[in-house]
Amino acid sequence: MSGTVYVGRFAPSPSGPLHAGSLAAALASWLDARACSGRWLVRIEDVDAPRTVASADECILAQLRALGLHWDGEVVWQSRRGDLYQRAFDSLAARGLVYGCGCTRRDIADSLSGAGMDGERPYPGTCRNGLASGRQARAWRVRVLPGIEHFDDRWRGPQEQDVACAVGDFVLKRADGLWAYQLAVVVDDAEQGVTDVVRGADLLGSTARQRVLGRLLGLPLPRVMHVPLVVDPVTGLKMSKQNHAQAVGTDKPVSALDAAWRSLGFSALPAPDVPAFLAAATARWARRFPMPK
Ligand code: GLU
Repeated sequence: MSGTVYVGRFAPSPSGPLHAGSLAAALASWLDARACSGRWLVRIEDVDAPRTVASADECILAQLRALGLHWDGEVVWQSRRGDLYQRAFDSLAARGLVYGCGCTRRDIADSLSGAGMDGERPYPGTCRNGLASGRQARAWRVRVLPGIEHFDDRWRGPQEQDVACAVGDFVLKRADGLWAYQLAVVVDDAEQGVTDVVRGADLLGSTARQRVLGRLLGLPLPRVMHVPLVVDPVTGLKMSKQNHAQAVGTDKPVSALDAAWRSLGFSALPAPDVPAFLAAATARWARRFPMPK
């Protein structure tokens, strides 16, 4: 595998500890990196300050350590990387690709009847040609050109989305200074040399717009794999912090890892300890998902 570069990452939002869903995403991305003899980075996505819970980052890192999911290099925090996002934003703005938008959610909802691909309403372009008089910018949006974005998902196969139709011009920064996830993730993945994004299927609908943005910024685009979401067996809802998913316990690490492994669709993997479990899982993963070309 010499000469092949693989850099993966796990990018949790610190809005609570790891739960069954985020652990499955972490495990899948760790296994893919290790199966490819690659590096595996951890990035704390605390760019959405209002959703950030104090100490959740330390808790997530402690859970990863306890489960044997060790990372390479230094952990980075998005809240400390605003200069990078500003530079990318400025380069788009200098090319006339950014504009201020004064619409409220209600304005957007009132002007549309349909919903976008991932349940969001596409922005109808109200402020594209300037703010209405008396309006102030509440956010800055990027101009999305018409066209279909095609990509291959290593789990789900060929995908496509017409971002202009399904999403419209999307937000890069809010007037209160908060950076949008979409901009931060694209800038960070490129700046950290990430070649492979492995994450939960809830982010599949964000991939096309991230590729559109990456291309506008002239950045390399990572390969992607979106793994199945873990569903609560009782409610049938996606496991998430919003749905009050329980924190993953680490007192029985092999059981916790095995539950995450089975939630990815694999059969149980009995192992005496964490290193044995992870070695066996890595070998199985490598057979199922050979090194991407
Ligand atoms: N921070 C996002 C989350 O926790 C993941 C972002 C990503 O993997 O691109 O849902």
